[in-house]
Amino acid sequence: MTKLLDTTRLFPATLCFDGIEHPVIDMPVSPKWAETAAAKGFDIICRARDRYHLVLRCRTCGALNLVKIFTLMSAQPICQVCQTRQWAATAEAAGAFLLRRCPKDRHYAWLLMPCGHAVRRQMELVGRAARGEAEIRCETCLAEREAAEAEAQGWRLIGADPEGNPNYRLYAHEECGHVQRVARANMQTGRFNCAKCGEGWSAAPSAIYLLDIRLPCGRKLLKFGMSRNTLSRVLYQLPRHEAVRIEILDSVPMPSGHQAQLVEKKIHARLRLRYPAEVVDPADYAAHLKVRSEVYTPRLERRLRRELSRIRRKFPPLAEAA
Ligand SMILES: [Zn+2]
Ligand SMILES: [Zn+2]
Ligand SMILES: [Zn+2]
Repeated sequence: MTKLLDTTRLFPATLCFDGIEHPVIDMPVSPKWAETAAAKGFDIICRARDRYHLVLRCRTCGALNLVKIFTLMSAQPICQVCQTRQWAATAEAAGAFLLRRCPKDRHYAWLLMPCGHAVRRQMELVGRAARGEAEIRCETCLAEREAAEAEAQGWRLIGADPEGNPNYRLYAHEECGHVQRVARANMQTGRFNCAKCGEGWSAAPSAIYLLDIRLPCGRKLLKFGMSRNTLSRVLYQLPRHEAVRIEILDSVPMPSGHQAQLVEKKIHARLRLRYPAEVVDPADYAAHLKVRSEVYTPRLERRLRRELSRIRRKFPPLAEAA
């Protein structure tokens, strides 16, 4: 091998580029390498780092690149500077901003998302996103969105599905603490049941109910109200301790929580106006029940049962198939 390009003597002991000091290796450069480099858009500057590497100058942008001799001879060497410029354009087309190449993997880069979070992505995916064939999603924002979705249903997002299904997540029920897997789509719509306390969508979406409550002292009270979810939730939420006994006297399913609330509020207003003496002072049951109103004396039982019958006639149950 002849010392055709004996330029190494002109160089200092090291060449600094890419933020790294590369030791120059004083060894000959084969004319075949120079020819190949020229054909592939580069000029050989010198050998560096070790006997396997060359410093190539990109003919497009002038940047120096450390490239394996093997790579030069067997493939198209890549100019990092040109590629980074290209990646920046790709990232922009994908709706993000290229922060930097990933120092650990040459196929990855760090991107700044429109939401302000930085994400690490394979550039192949970013390229597909730039062409509209894929989407780069911010996992921080996604997690926040999913946590909010769960919260709206009374659940807390714990994390990924322990069984590895990408469509499922692990959630805890705020009401009873039960932890279970739920499909994210079902969490969004509330179409699932808690396996422990049974709260869920399979029961009527809403109901107006009349409850018989016995305090530990034996005193009987009536609770008239509505539940947006199911009665089991009311039964679970209502008592402060186990000495309170509750029995459902009647309950009418309602087509929607909104309708249930309208009807229920109207009845409470009427009862407070006509029978103020039958409205129980919250101080009487505050130690036993987690509510502060809508509790009446047993003297209103017949009246309240009549109200429920009227509601039942006005809102006949929906067809089973619905
Ligand atoms: Zn270049
Ligand atoms: Zn984000
Ligand atoms: Zn539960």
